[in-house]
Amino acid sequence: MPDSYDRLVAKLKRAHVLGTVAGLLGWDEQVNLPTDSADQRAEQSALLAELNHAAASDAEIGKLLGELENARASLTADQQVVVREARRDYDRVTKLPSEFVAEKARLSSAAYHAWAEAKGKADFAAYAPYLEKHLALAKCEAATLGWGDRPYDYAIDKHDPGMTAAKITVLFTELKAGLVPLVRAIAASPVKARTDIFKGFPVEAQRDFLREVTERLGFNYRRGRIDVSLHPFCEGSGADIRMTTRFDADNPLDSLFSSIHETGHGLYEQGLPLALQGTPLGQNAGMGVHESQSRLWENQVSRSRAFWAFFEPRFREKFPAQLAAVSSEELYLAVNEVAPTLIRVDSDEVHYNLHILLRFELEQRLFRGDLAVADLPAAWNALSEELLGLTPTSDKVGVLQDVHWSGGAFGYFPSYCLGNMIAAQLWFTVLKTLPGLEADFAKGDFSRLLGWLRTNIHEQGRRYDTLALVKEVTGEELTPKYLLRYLQERYAPLYLK
Ligand code: ZN
Repeated sequence: MPDSYDRLVAKLKRAHVLGTVAGLLGWDEQVNLPTDSADQRAEQSALLAELNHAAASDAEIGKLLGELENARASLTADQQVVVREARRDYDRVTKLPSEFVAEKARLSSAAYHAWAEAKGKADFAAYAPYLEKHLALAKCEAATLGWGDRPYDYAIDKHDPGMTAAKITVLFTELKAGLVPLVRAIAASPVKARTDIFKGFPVEAQRDFLREVTERLGFNYRRGRIDVSLHPFCEGSGADIRMTTRFDADNPLDSLFSSIHETGHGLYEQGLPLALQGTPLGQNAGMGVHESQSRLWENQVSRSRAFWAFFEPRFREKFPAQLAAVSSEELYLAVNEVAPTLIRVDSDEVHYNLHILLRFELEQRLFRGDLAVADLPAAWNALSEELLGLTPTSDKVGVLQDVHWSGGAFGYFPSYCLGNMIAAQLWFTVLKTLPGLEADFAKGDFSRLLGWLRTNIHEQGRRYDTLALVKEVTGEELTPKYLLRYLQERYAPLYLK
């Protein structure tokens, strides 16, 4: 069926290209858009969303998929993957009535503004009705797609194919058992990182330094760029990756590490097979895997001794006066600062997973109907005390801190923690597979690691679901034991000596 297959690919690419245009407009909105141009941009984005939806739900795609599924035996293995994944996408796009999609988009837009205002005033009650509506829509969406008895699993599967709440519960329970004692021990340690020693780092020099770092890690600036936005993100695919960062003269490490994080996302997108762009084999394997790529570069690589053996002299060269009174050990400890905070996005990597456990628990209760939206703040605060040892003084730094639920993005948070687990498991696998890897880092050479990730993760596209990919690459089922081992090996020598 070569003809039907080629026609399918052409249709998929058309929808993909429209998606990339929409993505570029979204990037521009966050980076460049003049303040009074928002209405015009909203109109442009809405039209593109409509065109994109029409292209992705084209009846011809359904017809071609039907033909190809009937002739499955004549397809190559790669073609079978494309047909399988295109079917998954097509069903999700076409089974939801367009009125439903429009209603969800309208609600998300209204809920976003309600959330921002409620957060400013720490007024959860004003936001609660939007959250209730989103929850109802999420259950309705799951039922329409045939997941009526497992709406939360549907929400999770949207972000991490094949993953379920039950599977995550097993992983998170084991993680929590190992993590809480480590966190408590570090909290009781007399060793404290000092981040107030970083003052007056000119933005231009910060920009130069992070450019050098991200280029050395392997980001290709001929097929991407980095700009400034309020919240760092990475957008785009294939030949055009747009990353953003933010700068603070008194917090150079924040900018550096968030840029490295986005670079991890960017390297993944740049490593997807360009020739297969627009087909599922040219697309990423899901949120958990994506996050594993950003976390691996940000944490396992860039918080290591080997990384700083190479970059510390360069960092000092750029900022001689600012770092004159900072010792190497102080710098390395600041890079690996552990301090509890109420805010997820400000959290260190040891506490971070506890923030996710909290959200996962609450989302499950909301979907099961065990928890009313009105009772969410109290439940949040109780769990925050239990897991982090901190009680929010206001909903602003508690239940209202994240934007995700305002867009109806339930089942998204667990991906962050799954990404951390996957990153650690990949890390120990690659250390075993490529002896002397960290000695390369100390020379500023990250190419063997990138090459390994290219072959084993990036070039696989959506061939495997999250768990199957981990099993295929590491030879083992996904387990939290590697994340626990990594955290122990990284932080115990610093804080528990
Ligand atoms: Zn990320």
